[in-house]
Amino acid sequence: MTRAYNFSAGPAVLPESVLRQAADEMLDWHGSGMSVMEMSHRGKEFMSILAQAKADLAELLNLPSNYKILFLQGGGVGMNGIIPMNLLGNKKSIDVVNTGSWASKSLKEAKKYAKANEVATSEPQHYTCIPPRDTWKLDPDAAYVHICSNETIGGVQYHWVPDTGSVPLVADMSSDILSRPIDVSRYGLIFAGAQKNMGPSGMTLVLVRDDLLGRALPITPNAFDFKQQADNDSMLNTPPTYAIYIAGLVYQWLKKQGGLAAMEAHNRKKAALLYDLLDATPFYTSPVARSDRSLMNVPFTLPTEELTTAFLQGAKERGMVQLKGHSSVGGIRASIYNAMPIEGVQALADYMKEFAAHHG
Ligand code: PMP
Repeated sequence: MTRAYNFSAGPAVLPESVLRQAADEMLDWHGSGMSVMEMSHRGKEFMSILAQAKADLAELLNLPSNYKILFLQGGGVGMNGIIPMNLLGNKKSIDVVNTGSWASKSLKEAKKYAKANEVATSEPQHYTCIPPRDTWKLDPDAAYVHICSNETIGGVQYHWVPDTGSVPLVADMSSDILSRPIDVSRYGLIFAGAQKNMGPSGMTLVLVRDDLLGRALPITPNAFDFKQQADNDSMLNTPPTYAIYIAGLVYQWLKKQGGLAAMEAHNRKKAALLYDLLDATPFYTSPVARSDRSLMNVPFTLPTEELTTAFLQGAKERGMVQLKGHSSVGGIRASIYNAMPIEGVQALADYMKEFAAHHG
Protein backbone atom coordinates (compact mmCIF):
# COMPACT_ATOMS: atom_id res chain seq x y z
CA MET A 1 0.00 0.00 0.00
CA THR A 2 1.27 3.47 -0.87
CA ARG A 3 -0.33 6.55 0.60
CA ALA A 4 -0.18 9.65 -1.52
CA TYR A 5 0.88 13.02 -0.21
CA ASN A 6 -2.61 14.46 -0.20
CA PHE A 7 -2.80 18.27 -0.45
CA SER A 8 -6.61 18.42 -0.58
CA ALA A 9 -8.31 21.48 0.92
CA GLY A 10 -10.91 19.26 2.55
CA PRO A 11 -11.95 16.61 3.18
CA ALA A 12 -8.25 16.32 3.79
CA VAL A 13 -5.40 14.14 4.99
CA LEU A 14 -5.76 12.56 8.44
CA PRO A 15 -2.96 11.23 10.64
CA GLU A 16 -2.09 7.74 9.45
CA SER A 17 -1.98 6.42 13.01
CA VAL A 18 -5.57 7.58 13.54
CA LEU A 19 -6.72 5.77 10.40
CA ARG A 20 -4.86 2.63 11.50
CA GLN A 21 -6.44 2.72 14.94
CA ALA A 22 -9.89 3.23 13.40
CA ALA A 23 -9.21 0.28 11.09
CA ASP A 24 -8.17 -1.90 14.05
CA GLU A 25 -11.29 -0.92 15.95
CA MET A 26 -13.65 -1.02 12.98
CA LEU A 27 -15.40 -4.33 13.72
CA ASP A 28 -15.06 -4.47 17.49
CA TRP A 29 -14.53 -1.31 19.52
CA HIS A 30 -12.78 -2.10 22.83
CA GLY A 31 -14.38 -5.54 23.17
CA SER A 32 -17.92 -4.21 22.74
CA GLY A 33 -18.50 -6.52 19.77
CA MET A 34 -19.66 -3.50 17.75
CA SER A 35 -18.30 -0.92 15.39
CA VAL A 36 -18.64 2.66 16.66
CA MET A 37 -20.95 3.15 13.67
CA GLU A 38 -23.32 0.56 15.07
CA MET A 39 -23.58 1.87 18.62
CA SER A 40 -26.53 3.65 20.15
CA HIS A 41 -25.54 7.23 20.73
CA ARG A 42 -27.05 6.96 24.20
CA GLY A 43 -25.27 3.75 25.17
CA LYS A 44 -22.43 3.83 27.70
CA GLU A 45 -19.81 3.04 25.04
CA PHE A 46 -20.55 6.02 22.84
CA MET A 47 -21.18 8.27 25.83
CA SER A 48 -17.63 7.49 26.97
CA ILE A 49 -16.26 8.33 23.49
CA LEU A 50 -18.11 11.66 23.51
CA ALA A 51 -16.99 12.55 27.03
CA GLN A 52 -13.35 11.75 26.22
CA ALA A 53 -13.45 13.76 22.98
CA LYS A 54 -14.85 16.78 24.83
CA ALA A 55 -12.33 16.51 27.65
CA ASP A 56 -9.39 16.21 25.25
CA LEU A 57 -10.61 19.11 23.12
CA ALA A 58 -11.14 21.33 26.16
CA GLU A 59 -7.60 20.50 27.31
CA LEU A 60 -6.07 21.22 23.90
CA LEU A 61 -7.86 24.57 23.66
CA ASN A 62 -7.42 25.48 27.31
CA LEU A 63 -11.15 26.12 27.12
CA PRO A 64 -12.52 28.55 29.71
CA SER A 65 -15.28 27.04 31.88
CA ASN A 66 -17.93 29.44 30.54
CA TYR A 67 -17.81 27.94 27.03
CA LYS A 68 -19.80 25.00 25.72
CA ILE A 69 -18.56 22.45 23.19
CA LEU A 70 -21.24 21.39 20.71
CA PHE A 71 -20.79 18.68 18.08
CA LEU A 72 -23.48 19.44 15.52
CA GLN A 73 -24.24 18.90 11.84
CA GLY A 74 -24.79 21.32 9.00
CA GLY A 75 -21.18 22.21 8.14
CA GLY A 76 -19.78 25.70 7.73
CA VAL A 77 -22.40 26.55 5.13
CA GLY A 78 -25.18 25.50 7.50
CA MET A 79 -23.68 27.61 10.29
CA ASN A 80 -23.94 30.70 8.09
CA GLY A 81 -27.71 30.54 8.67
CA ILE A 82 -27.76 28.78 12.04
CA ILE A 83 -25.59 31.38 13.77
CA PRO A 84 -27.69 34.41 12.82
CA MET A 85 -30.79 32.54 14.00
CA ASN A 86 -29.11 31.84 17.34
CA LEU A 87 -27.33 35.10 18.04
CA LEU A 88 -29.47 37.84 16.56
CA GLY A 89 -31.85 38.02 19.56
CA ASN A 90 -33.47 41.44 19.66
CA LYS A 91 -30.70 43.09 17.62
CA LYS A 92 -31.20 44.14 14.03
CA SER A 93 -27.80 43.86 12.41
CA ILE A 94 -24.71 41.73 11.95
CA ASP A 95 -21.25 42.98 10.94
CA VAL A 96 -19.19 40.88 8.52
CA VAL A 97 -15.57 41.39 7.46
CA ASN A 98 -15.30 40.21 3.89
CA THR A 99 -11.96 38.58 3.21
CA GLY A 100 -12.89 36.18 0.41
CA SER A 101 -15.11 33.37 -0.77
CA TRP A 102 -16.14 32.06 2.62
CA ALA A 103 -16.77 35.38 4.35
CA SER A 104 -18.74 36.47 1.26
CA LYS A 105 -20.97 33.41 1.59
CA SER A 106 -21.49 34.13 5.29
CA LEU A 107 -22.43 37.72 4.48
CA LYS A 108 -24.93 36.69 1.82
CA GLU A 109 -26.61 34.12 4.04
CA ALA A 110 -26.78 36.45 7.06
CA LYS A 111 -28.78 38.88 4.92
CA LYS A 112 -31.71 36.46 5.04
CA TYR A 113 -32.01 36.98 8.77
CA ALA A 114 -30.75 40.45 9.51
CA LYS A 115 -29.32 43.63 8.19
CA ALA A 116 -25.86 42.29 7.42
CA ASN A 117 -23.22 44.97 6.95
CA GLU A 118 -20.01 44.44 5.05
CA VAL A 119 -17.90 46.50 7.47
CA ALA A 120 -14.67 46.03 5.54
CA THR A 121 -13.65 44.19 2.40
CA SER A 122 -10.50 43.23 0.57
CA GLU A 123 -12.39 42.70 -2.68
CA PRO A 124 -10.57 45.62 -4.38
CA GLN A 125 -7.33 43.74 -3.59
CA HIS A 126 -8.84 40.54 -5.04
CA TYR A 127 -9.06 39.14 -1.52
CA THR A 128 -5.30 38.87 -1.07
CA CYS A 129 -5.13 40.51 2.35
CA ILE A 130 -7.01 41.16 5.60
CA PRO A 131 -8.39 44.72 5.81
CA PRO A 132 -6.59 46.50 8.69
CA ARG A 133 -8.69 46.78 11.85
CA ASP A 134 -8.68 50.60 11.80
CA THR A 135 -10.58 50.58 8.48
CA TRP A 136 -13.50 48.51 9.82
CA LYS A 137 -16.73 50.47 10.18
CA LEU A 138 -18.24 48.55 13.07
CA ASP A 139 -21.75 49.11 14.42
CA PRO A 140 -21.60 49.14 18.25
CA ASP A 141 -25.17 47.81 18.28
CA ALA A 142 -24.57 44.82 15.99
CA ALA A 143 -25.45 41.36 17.33
CA TYR A 144 -21.93 40.17 16.49
CA VAL A 145 -18.95 40.62 14.18
CA HIS A 146 -18.24 37.73 11.82
CA ILE A 147 -14.75 36.93 10.53
CA CYS A 148 -13.28 33.97 8.66
CA SER A 149 -9.96 33.30 10.39
CA ASN A 150 -8.57 31.44 7.38
CA GLU A 151 -9.90 31.79 3.85
CA THR A 152 -9.38 28.29 2.49
CA ILE A 153 -9.59 29.30 -1.17
CA GLY A 154 -7.64 32.56 -1.09
CA GLY A 155 -5.03 31.39 1.43
CA VAL A 156 -5.46 34.48 3.62
CA GLN A 157 -5.26 34.09 7.39
CA TYR A 158 -5.59 36.36 10.41
CA HIS A 159 -2.44 36.42 12.51
CA TRP A 160 -4.08 38.67 15.08
CA VAL A 161 -7.38 38.69 16.94
CA PRO A 162 -9.54 41.73 16.21
CA ASP A 163 -10.79 43.75 19.14
CA THR A 164 -14.54 44.28 18.73
CA GLY A 165 -15.20 45.78 22.16
CA SER A 166 -18.37 44.50 23.78
CA VAL A 167 -19.76 43.13 20.49
CA PRO A 168 -19.11 39.36 20.37
CA LEU A 169 -16.61 38.14 17.80
CA VAL A 170 -17.71 35.10 15.77
CA ALA A 171 -15.04 33.22 13.82
CA ASP A 172 -15.31 30.65 11.07
CA MET A 173 -12.23 28.53 11.85
CA SER A 174 -13.18 25.69 9.51
CA SER A 175 -9.74 25.55 7.95
CA ASP A 176 -7.41 26.52 10.80
CA ILE A 177 -8.98 25.18 13.96
CA LEU A 178 -6.42 23.39 16.18
CA SER A 179 -3.53 24.48 13.96
CA ARG A 180 -2.21 26.91 16.60
CA PRO A 181 -3.08 27.96 20.15
CA ILE A 182 -5.97 30.41 20.41
CA ASP A 183 -7.29 32.52 23.25
CA VAL A 184 -10.89 31.31 23.16
CA SER A 185 -11.95 34.04 25.61
CA ARG A 186 -11.47 36.64 22.85
CA TYR A 187 -14.36 35.09 20.89
CA GLY A 188 -18.08 34.83 21.53
CA LEU A 189 -18.39 31.86 19.22
CA ILE A 190 -16.07 29.74 17.10
CA PHE A 191 -17.25 27.23 14.53
CA ALA A 192 -15.51 24.75 12.26
CA GLY A 193 -16.41 21.89 10.00
CA ALA A 194 -14.39 18.81 10.93
CA GLN A 195 -13.10 17.83 7.53
CA LYS A 196 -9.81 19.72 7.42
CA ASN A 197 -8.04 19.50 10.75
CA MET A 198 -10.31 17.27 12.83
CA GLY A 199 -11.75 14.30 11.01
CA PRO A 200 -14.29 13.30 8.40
CA SER A 201 -17.02 15.64 7.17
CA GLY A 202 -20.39 15.50 8.87
CA MET A 203 -19.48 16.97 12.25
CA THR A 204 -19.43 20.70 12.92
CA LEU A 205 -17.80 22.00 16.05
CA VAL A 206 -19.29 25.00 17.84
CA LEU A 207 -17.63 26.62 20.85
CA VAL A 208 -20.01 29.13 22.35
CA ARG A 209 -19.85 31.44 25.36
CA ASP A 210 -22.61 30.74 27.90
CA ASP A 211 -24.12 34.22 27.87
CA LEU A 212 -24.86 33.93 24.12
CA LEU A 213 -27.14 30.94 24.66
CA GLY A 214 -30.92 31.31 24.86
CA ARG A 215 -31.37 34.03 22.22
CA ALA A 216 -32.54 31.84 19.34
CA LEU A 217 -35.29 33.13 17.09
CA PRO A 218 -38.51 31.12 17.51
CA ILE A 219 -38.16 29.73 13.97
CA THR A 220 -34.79 28.10 14.81
CA PRO A 221 -34.96 24.33 14.28
CA ASN A 222 -34.49 22.55 17.62
CA ALA A 223 -31.59 20.54 16.21
CA PHE A 224 -29.76 23.81 15.58
CA ASP A 225 -30.74 25.68 18.72
CA PHE A 226 -27.45 26.06 20.59
CA LYS A 227 -29.12 26.33 24.01
CA GLN A 228 -31.17 23.20 23.49
CA GLN A 229 -28.15 21.33 22.19
CA ALA A 230 -26.00 22.58 25.08
CA ASP A 231 -28.66 21.47 27.58
CA ASN A 232 -28.71 18.04 25.92
CA ASP A 233 -24.94 17.55 25.51
CA SER A 234 -25.27 17.68 21.67
CA MET A 235 -27.73 14.78 21.93
CA LEU A 236 -31.02 16.47 21.18
CA ASN A 237 -30.90 14.51 17.94
CA THR A 238 -28.57 11.71 16.88
CA PRO A 239 -25.14 13.33 16.63
CA PRO A 240 -22.64 12.38 13.89
CA THR A 241 -21.25 9.59 16.03
CA TYR A 242 -18.53 8.19 13.78
CA ALA A 243 -17.19 11.63 12.91
CA ILE A 244 -17.06 12.50 16.62
CA TYR A 245 -15.17 9.27 17.31
CA ILE A 246 -12.55 10.03 14.64
CA ALA A 247 -12.25 13.63 15.84
CA GLY A 248 -11.65 12.22 19.32
CA LEU A 249 -8.79 10.09 17.99
CA VAL A 250 -7.37 13.18 16.27
CA TYR A 251 -7.53 15.11 19.58
CA GLN A 252 -5.55 12.31 21.24
CA TRP A 253 -3.03 12.39 18.39
CA LEU A 254 -2.68 16.16 18.81
CA LYS A 255 -1.98 15.74 22.51
CA LYS A 256 0.72 13.20 21.67
CA GLN A 257 2.30 15.68 19.22
CA GLY A 258 2.69 18.10 22.12
CA GLY A 259 -0.54 20.08 21.76
CA LEU A 260 -1.30 23.20 19.77
CA ALA A 261 1.92 25.12 20.44
CA ALA A 262 3.95 22.22 19.04
CA MET A 263 1.51 21.97 16.15
CA GLU A 264 1.96 25.65 15.33
CA ALA A 265 5.74 25.34 15.34
CA HIS A 266 5.49 22.37 13.00
CA ASN A 267 3.00 24.16 10.73
CA ARG A 268 5.24 27.24 10.56
CA LYS A 269 8.18 25.10 9.49
CA LYS A 270 6.11 23.43 6.78
CA ALA A 271 4.69 26.69 5.43
CA ALA A 272 8.15 28.31 5.39
CA LEU A 273 9.44 25.55 3.10
CA LEU A 274 6.90 26.65 0.48
CA TYR A 275 6.83 30.42 1.02
CA ASP A 276 10.63 30.72 1.08
CA LEU A 277 10.78 28.87 -2.20
CA LEU A 278 7.99 30.97 -3.75
CA ASP A 279 9.78 34.17 -2.70
CA ALA A 280 13.08 32.96 -4.12
CA THR A 281 11.67 31.71 -7.44
CA PRO A 282 10.25 34.31 -9.86
CA PHE A 283 8.76 31.47 -11.94
CA TYR A 284 6.02 31.19 -9.31
CA THR A 285 3.67 33.91 -8.08
CA SER A 286 2.33 33.98 -4.54
CA PRO A 287 -0.63 36.38 -4.60
CA VAL A 288 -1.22 36.90 -0.87
CA ALA A 289 0.16 39.80 1.20
CA ARG A 290 3.10 38.45 3.21
CA SER A 291 1.69 39.44 6.59
CA ASP A 292 -1.58 37.61 5.87
CA ARG A 293 -0.33 34.40 4.33
CA SER A 294 -2.07 31.24 5.47
CA LEU A 295 -0.11 28.51 7.20
CA MET A 296 -2.77 26.04 6.06
CA ASN A 297 -3.52 26.77 2.38
CA VAL A 298 -0.73 27.96 0.12
CA PRO A 299 -1.99 29.16 -3.28
CA PHE A 300 0.39 30.03 -6.10
CA THR A 301 0.37 30.38 -9.86
CA LEU A 302 2.62 29.41 -12.76
CA PRO A 303 3.16 31.54 -15.87
CA THR A 304 0.66 29.70 -18.10
CA GLU A 305 -2.27 27.30 -18.01
CA GLU A 306 -0.22 24.69 -19.93
CA LEU A 307 2.55 24.80 -17.34
CA THR A 308 -0.03 24.49 -14.55
CA THR A 309 -1.46 21.35 -16.17
CA ALA A 310 2.02 19.90 -16.67
CA PHE A 311 2.90 20.71 -13.06
CA LEU A 312 -0.17 18.89 -11.74
CA GLN A 313 0.53 15.88 -13.95
CA GLY A 314 4.16 15.66 -12.79
CA ALA A 315 3.08 16.03 -9.17
CA LYS A 316 0.63 13.17 -9.55
CA GLU A 317 3.32 10.95 -11.04
CA ARG A 318 5.40 11.68 -7.93
CA GLY A 319 2.55 10.75 -5.57
CA MET A 320 1.42 14.29 -4.75
CA VAL A 321 -2.31 14.72 -5.32
CA GLN A 322 -5.20 17.21 -5.06
CA LEU A 323 -3.03 20.26 -5.73
CA LYS A 324 -5.33 21.96 -8.22
CA GLY A 325 -6.41 25.43 -7.10
CA HIS A 326 -10.10 26.15 -6.52
CA SER A 327 -11.95 26.66 -9.80
CA SER A 328 -12.76 30.28 -8.85
CA VAL A 329 -9.08 31.28 -8.68
CA GLY A 330 -7.20 28.65 -10.69
CA GLY A 331 -3.50 27.91 -10.25
CA ILE A 332 -2.21 25.59 -7.56
CA ARG A 333 -3.19 25.28 -3.92
CA ALA A 334 -1.23 23.21 -1.45
CA SER A 335 -3.24 22.57 1.69
CA ILE A 336 -0.86 21.57 4.44
CA TYR A 337 -3.07 20.90 7.44
CA ASN A 338 -1.86 19.44 10.75
CA ALA A 339 -1.75 15.88 9.45
CA MET A 340 0.38 16.67 6.38
CA PRO A 341 3.86 15.41 7.29
CA ILE A 342 6.83 17.71 6.71
CA GLU A 343 8.22 15.06 4.33
CA GLY A 344 5.23 15.70 2.04
CA VAL A 345 5.86 19.44 2.02
CA GLN A 346 9.58 18.87 1.42
CA ALA A 347 8.75 16.57 -1.51
CA LEU A 348 6.54 19.28 -2.98
CA ALA A 349 9.19 21.98 -2.49
CA ASP A 350 11.82 19.75 -4.15
CA TYR A 351 9.51 19.12 -7.09
CA MET A 352 8.68 22.83 -7.42
CA LYS A 353 12.37 23.68 -7.54
CA GLU A 354 13.02 21.02 -10.17
CA PHE A 355 10.00 22.07 -12.25
CA ALA A 356 10.99 25.74 -12.22
CA ALA A 357 14.58 24.92 -13.19
CA HIS A 358 13.34 22.83 -16.08
CA HIS A 359 10.62 25.18 -17.35
CA GLY A 360 11.68 28.59 -16.10
N1 PMP B 1 -15.85 27.98 5.81
C1 PMP B 1 -14.62 27.68 5.37
C2 PMP B 1 -13.49 28.54 5.79
C3 PMP B 1 -14.42 26.57 4.55
O1 PMP B 1 -13.19 26.27 4.10
C4 PMP B 1 -15.53 25.75 4.21
C5 PMP B 1 -15.37 24.51 3.37
N2 PMP B 1 -14.33 24.46 2.50
C6 PMP B 1 -16.78 26.12 4.67
C7 PMP B 1 -16.91 27.23 5.48
C8 PMP B 1 -17.98 25.33 4.30
O2 PMP B 1 -18.00 24.13 4.97
P1 PMP B 1 -19.01 22.96 4.59
O3 PMP B 1 -18.74 22.57 3.19
O4 PMP B 1 -18.65 21.91 5.59
O5 PMP B 1 -20.39 23.48 4.78
